[in-house]
Amino acid sequence: MREKPKRTTEARRHGGRRIARRFTRIPALIYADKSRGNRKSAKIRAEISGHQRAITMLGILSAFLVLFILLGVSCGKTGKSGAAAKTPTVIETKAGIEMVLIPAGWFEMGSRRGKADESPVHKVWVDAFLMDRYEVTQEQYGELVLGNPSHFKGPKSPVEQMSWADAARYCNARSRAEGLEPCYDEESGECDFSANGYRLPTEAEWEYACRAGTATDRFFGREERKLKDYAWYAENSFEKTHPVGQKKPNPWGIYDMYGNVAEWCNDIYNESYYKNSREKSPRGPAEGDKYVLRGGAWSSSADKCRSSYRVGEDPGFQDACFARDDIGFRCVRSAPHSILDTGYRIFDKSGIHDPASNIQHVAYSGVASFSLRPSSTIQYLVSNIQYQASRTGFIYSDIYLQHRTGTNHPERPQRLEAIVTRLEEKGLGEHRGSPLRLVTPYTGDPAGGPHGLPALLEWITTVHTAQYVERVGKSCQEGIEYMDSIDTPISPESYEVAVAAVGGVLSAIDEVMAGKMRNAFCALRPPGHHALKDRAMGFCIFNNVAIGARYIQKKHGLSKVLIVDWDVHHGNGTQAAFYDDPTVLYFSTHQYPFYPGSGSREEKGTGKGLGYTVNVPLPAGCGDEEYKKAFEEILRPRAVEFNPDFVLISAGFDAHRDDPIGGMNVTARGFAEMTSIVKDIAEKCCEGRLVSVLEGGYDLDGLADSVEAHVSALQE
Ligand SMILES: [Zn+2]
Repeated sequence: MREKPKRTTEARRHGGRRIARRFTRIPALIYADKSRGNRKSAKIRAEISGHQRAITMLGILSAFLVLFILLGVSCGKTGKSGAAAKTPTVIETKAGIEMVLIPAGWFEMGSRRGKADESPVHKVWVDAFLMDRYEVTQEQYGELVLGNPSHFKGPKSPVEQMSWADAARYCNARSRAEGLEPCYDEESGECDFSANGYRLPTEAEWEYACRAGTATDRFFGREERKLKDYAWYAENSFEKTHPVGQKKPNPWGIYDMYGNVAEWCNDIYNESYYKNSREKSPRGPAEGDKYVLRGGAWSSSADKCRSSYRVGEDPGFQDACFARDDIGFRCVRSAPHSILDTGYRIFDKSGIHDPASNIQHVAYSGVASFSLRPSSTIQYLVSNIQYQASRTGFIYSDIYLQHRTGTNHPERPQRLEAIVTRLEEKGLGEHRGSPLRLVTPYTGDPAGGPHGLPALLEWITTVHTAQYVERVGKSCQEGIEYMDSIDTPISPESYEVAVAAVGGVLSAIDEVMAGKMRNAFCALRPPGHHALKDRAMGFCIFNNVAIGARYIQKKHGLSKVLIVDWDVHHGNGTQAAFYDDPTVLYFSTHQYPFYPGSGSREEKGTGKGLGYTVNVPLPAGCGDEEYKKAFEEILRPRAVEFNPDFVLISAGFDAHRDDPIGGMNVTARGFAEMTSIVKDIAEKCCEGRLVSVLEGGYDLDGLADSVEAHVSALQE
C-alpha cells in the first residue's frame, strides 16, 4: 500500500533527504520497470518451477494425506453432527424477526444416559413449524409489551425474569401485531393449537429443533469442550447473559439452544411423562403445577446444556430452582399448510431428513401473511430462495472520501469513486440476477450505542494501544499533516474516517454472521494491513482486517480465522498482530524484496503460532499463473487443514499490471481466480463466511476492473 519509490516528480515533491532514507530500506529489485519485466519473468518462471518441483514431490509423498484432509477434515466439521446443514431455511416475519422453517419428521426423544426424567427414549413425530432463530430479545419484547423486566439490560440480550404467563402474553401480542390469531387464553393459559399465531414450543418441538437431526447428547457431537463455542454457560458467561446469536448456531441455524437463558416450553412438566406420552405431536400432560424449561442457562453446568435435559419450574417463580434472571423463551408457529402443500423441493417429504434438501436461505419480508395468498406467496418464496442464496454485501459510505491525503498521493478518494462508479455502471443492483446488498457501515456515533464510537474504540484497542488511538485522534484534531511518516498524510477528518473504516469491516462481519448475506466486500479507506500496534505505516492508520479477526473471535465466539492477503505489499502489521497466535492463519503473497521489507519465506510465526504465518514472497513481474499456483498449491491445502471458522481477505489490487506502485502483472481475471479459490475454501470450511476488505490498488481503471471481477466472483 505504499507509493512506489520511483524517481519521479512524486519523489521530488517529498524532498530528497527523506526519500533517500526511505530508498535505503528498499531492496534494489523494485527499481525494475515494466519494460524489463520479461527478463525478470524468465527468472521468476525458473524459481517458480523449482518451487513447483518441490511441491510436486511433496505432493506425491503426501497424496494420501491431502486426500484425507480434503475428504476428511473439510467435511468432518459438520459430518460429525450427523446433519450437515450448511445454510438454514430462514424466513423473516413481517416484524423482521428471523425464524427457521423446520420440516416435519420423526426423531428419538429423551436420553438413556441422562436423568430419570429423560427416559425412556421414544420415537416422536413432530409437524412442521417455524421457530425463532434467536431467543426473544429485550428490544423485541419492549416493542410489543410495556416495560423490560430483565436484570442484565441490553437491547440484543435475551429478555429474562420472564414468568410463563408473561411469555405467553408476548406470543399473543406478537400474533395480534401481525394480524394472526392469538393462541393463548390469557385467563386460563390454555393454548389453542389450531390458531395460526405464535406460541411457546412443545417440549417435543424444542428438542427436535435442538437436535437438528443429531442423536448425541449435544448437536455438535460428543466433545464437551466444544460447548464453549455454542453456549454461554457457567464456565464462560461471566455470570450474565450475552446478546443473542454470538455463539455458533446448531446445524439448522438456530442460536443459543444451550445456555444464555433457559427457555419456557408450552408443556406442563411431569417427571414420568415419557412413559405414556403419545407418539405424534405430544403436548405434555393435562395437569400439573410446573412448566417445562429447556436448554440450560448462563448459570448452568455443562450437564444441563444438553438436548434432552429438562426441568420443571413454577411458572411464576414461587418455587424457583433457576434464578429468575436465568429464564427467557423463544416463539414458534405452526407452519402454514399453504407452504407445505406446494411440493417445492425444500419441503419434499423424501427430503425431510436430508438437511441438504431442506436448507435454503429465504427472505420472507413483505408478505402479509403466508397463509392468505398461497400462490403468489410461494412465487415470492421461490424467487427469494435464489435471490438470497448467493447474496453478496457491498459496504460503502461517502465518509470514506473525507480522509484527504493531498493531490499527488496515490491513496486518494478517487479510488473509491472509481469503484462505485464502475459497479453502478454494471448494474450494482441486478448483477446476474444476484443483487449486491448495500450496507451502511457503522460510523461511530460519538454518543455511543452498540456501534457508536466508544464501542468501536473498544474493538480497535484489541489490536492497537489506547495511547496510539488517542494520538491519532489528537493529531487529526491539531491539524498535523502526517501520521508517523510522510507515507501517511492525514486531514482533520482522518480519525473519524479511520474509525468508520473499522466500522465497515465490523458491520460486514455482523451481516454475514446474522445470515443476511453469504459474503461481502468492503470498499473503504484508509487501508490497514501495514498499521502496527502503536504506529501508522504505509498509508494505513488502523489495521481493519486484524481488528475484524479479533471481533469475529471475541464478539461472535468463533475460534479460527484465516486471513488471505494478496496486496502486492507484505502485510507486516497483520503478521505482527498474530505472529504467536495459532488461532489466526495469516497467508500472504507479495512482491519480494519490496516495501516494507518483511515477508520472507522464513517468517513462519513463533511459539504456539509457529506455522500459522505463511509467506509466499514472489519476485517482481509475476502474473496470474504464478499467483494461481501459489493459491492452489500452498494456500488451499494449508487452509483446508487449518479449517477456519471465518475467512477475511486483505484485498489489495496493486499487483495489477497497470498499477503505478506494484511491479506485478496480475489481471482482473487473475484476481477473480484468486477470489474463487478463497471463496471455495470458505464454502468447504465455514459455510461460505467471507469478508473481503480493500487495501491497495492505485491505477483507477485497473482497480475498477479488478474490483468488478472480484465482486462478480464473490457473487457466483
Ligand atoms: Zn499495497
